[in-house]
Amino acid sequence: MSEISSSCASQVITCKAAVCWGVGEECKVEDIQVEPPQKCEVRVKMLYASLCHTDIVISKGYPIPLFPRVLGHEGVGVVESVGEEVNAEDFKQGDIVIPTFVSECQECENCLSSKSNLCLKYPLTFSGLMLDGTSRMSTVKGQKMLYHLFSCSTWSEYMVVNVNFLAKLHNWGAHGTTTPPLSHASFLSCGFSTGFGAPWKEAKIERGSTVAVIGLGAVGLGAVEGARKQGAARIIGVDKNEMKREKGIAFGMTDFINPENHQSQHDQDHNKSVSELIKDCTDGMGVDYCFECTGVASFINEALVATKMGKGTAVVIGTSSSPTLQIDFLSLMSGRTLKGSMFGGLRAKTDLPILINKCMNKEMQLDELLTHEVPLTDINQAFELLKQPECVKVLIKI
Ligand code: NAD
Ligand code: ZN
Repeated sequence: MSEISSSCASQVITCKAAVCWGVGEECKVEDIQVEPPQKCEVRVKMLYASLCHTDIVISKGYPIPLFPRVLGHEGVGVVESVGEEVNAEDFKQGDIVIPTFVSECQECENCLSSKSNLCLKYPLTFSGLMLDGTSRMSTVKGQKMLYHLFSCSTWSEYMVVNVNFLAKLHNWGAHGTTTPPLSHASFLSCGFSTGFGAPWKEAKIERGSTVAVIGLGAVGLGAVEGARKQGAARIIGVDKNEMKREKGIAFGMTDFINPENHQSQHDQDHNKSVSELIKDCTDGMGVDYCFECTGVASFINEALVATKMGKGTAVVIGTSSSPTLQIDFLSLMSGRTLKGSMFGGLRAKTDLPILINKCMNKEMQLDELLTHEVPLTDINQAFELLKQPECVKVLIKI
């Protein structure tokens, strides 16, 4: 259990956190110190967290190897204390919150444009530090500084976050038994919301569109759900894991392609690519929109080629650790659009609350995402579980 060094909330807290000490190393659950929140920050007691594929990519040192580091960027918790400049109407002790990795100042060039959700005033950071360039966490032994992950680090009993990277869950539980368990809210901080936002806010798909989603993890299933809610006529899911067929259908997928069912060991030269398989499903035309949600670099080109000539759009959501890509020039020249997306184009203040409300009203099937649960002390098991075919989301009980 964590221990508050004094009854006063403005003290350093010693608590348990999952620390990754180097590239590809297992996490160590150990005592760390978490400083009080500064002026525009909040300290949160984490209740639940979850594992997103991005945590795995980052534990492998991508895009910048910053260690030792407290991982985790999905979660839900309760405000323990607030900095002196935090407006009580915004956040106060006891509020239930989820961290976000993008912010929205509603003033900067990007926030004022309808084209971007990437705030310039409070930018998405890859430095592993707070906006002032320092950390709020250190080891107990030796007082070594610990890096944060994005604007937060959720695999810790306590974490400090700038208020601009926080969404409040108003009245969660007020609907009594009809409200989903609070743990589900942790899935909204990144993966599922990112996928859901991509057809809605990033691609702004039209009703009746044909859509393909490559990769049916939490992100891809979110994209299937988002496409369904936007009125897509067909939603083709692609995954090498056969167990994702059933999951995809639960979220509104209309067709499933398992590329491995179309591969022949004897005739590898004639094996069909993912884009060919998607085109086969659409009379050779391709889809209006294709969402890449695996992080497999070569699928970015496949996503582009799988879209319609003259007007198709491929949206890249999966995080590839490959720094460069090969793109088919003629496909691009033939009027297709290739677009990258952070957080599915969702704006932290404008759009995320809409999604939270949909979740609270059970308009989305978040139950389908939760397949496994581990305590924080077994965090390394979560990495193993995510490799299991039946796994979608591992909930981490803090
Ligand atoms: P996940 O591991 O749960 O799901 C990935 C899915 O892709 C799995 O179902 C897997 O079977 C499938 N897949 C992998 N390789 C495949 C292949 N070769 N052929 C067919 N299917 C394949 O991951 P997730 O948490 O859903 O995240 C997906 C990706 O999105 C990751 O790269 C993650 O880093 C990235 N991500 C990006 C953002 C963003 O804002 N851009 C946000 C969250 C996650
Ligand atoms: Zn994530």
